[in-house]
Amino acid sequence: METIKTALSTYLAEIGSILSGFDSISDLLDVLLVAVIIYALIVQLRKTQSVHIIKGIFWLAVVYAVVVAARMNTSKMIFDYLINDLLLIIVIIFGTEIRQALEHMGQSRFKNIFSFSDSSGEEKVLTDAINATVRACDSMSRDKIGSLMVFQRQSNLGELERSGVTVDAKVTTEMLCSIFFPNSALHDGAIIIKDGRIIAARCIVSLKNDIVVHDKVGTRHRAALEVSRSSDAIVVVTSEETGIISVAADGVLKRGITDSELRQMLIGYLIPTPATPSTLTTKIKKLFSKRGAAHVQDTDDGSAESERSDTDAGKTDEKNEKDEK
Ligand code: ATP
Ligand code: MG
Repeated sequence: METIKTALSTYLAEIGSILSGFDSISDLLDVLLVAVIIYALIVQLRKTQSVHIIKGIFWLAVVYAVVVAARMNTSKMIFDYLINDLLLIIVIIFGTEIRQALEHMGQSRFKNIFSFSDSSGEEKVLTDAINATVRACDSMSRDKIGSLMVFQRQSNLGELERSGVTVDAKVTTEMLCSIFFPNSALHDGAIIIKDGRIIAARCIVSLKNDIVVHDKVGTRHRAALEVSRSSDAIVVVTSEETGIISVAADGVLKRGITDSELRQMLIGYLIPTPATPSTLTTKIKKLFSKRGAAHVQDTDDGSAESERSDTDAGKTDEKNEKDEK
């Protein structure tokens, strides 16, 4: 009997120690869960292009801290009113973004909710799409056929997509050339290409007046600049006036791109390389990276490579090295 008692009390003591350890485990899980939720929220908001609003809120918080520290009572009173209704204000401001983020979460596979890039990357599909695009651009450039092709990456382009008509077609040279063939039903506006498929055509980019570009550039090229400035999409343009091929990325329009440069740039921008793993630090840096003012670079001497932004040039160079091997 005594032995049973001792065994029972030892057993209960063990359970007790396990349960007392639970507090720290649940605290850890609590912190982890909050971190994951915040990270997923930032990723989703990044995809819906709202990081600048988050930055605004951050700076408001900084000003509020100063106001409290300096005991500026009138300003504090106004801030307090605002903060009381903060949740409501956020829902009103972020209405569209919250809807898009929820839509995206609903459509995504679980792992994509937390990833900035689609690392599952159907490399073959993307390479085929890139080769088809390069051939189509070569042909349209020679025939002076205008085109505007937006390659969607992580940013949500829902608004642009909704301005056009839905398409679901493989990217082939023939498909691209026939879409942009003058007077075809879909030739006007931009097409959107996502994961190697054309998902929309006849899309109209709403142009902001603050883009300052030089005289040579008309509205098609301005539209390309605008998309590349407000999202992480890469935009390829062929000019019907000059036949010149241009690429817009990160708010910079590079004109006079050759076929091989176009191929290298698209590979560099669209195909994730194992040589450049997307680490958490890189992702966070990217998340808060500043988009510069839009501008145009002519590359008459064909030196487009030397004028790419450091990050992406590096990425393409690594890809080139890989290809050479
Ligand atoms: P190009 O060198 O081909 O003439 P451009 O930059 O001079 O190009 P425009 O001549 O002004 O541009 O426009 C040509 C075509 O570009 C339009 O017919 C239209 O299909 C497309 N385009 C113009 N603006 C937009 C826009 N905001 N969104 C989408 N497509 C546009
Ligand atoms: Mg024109």
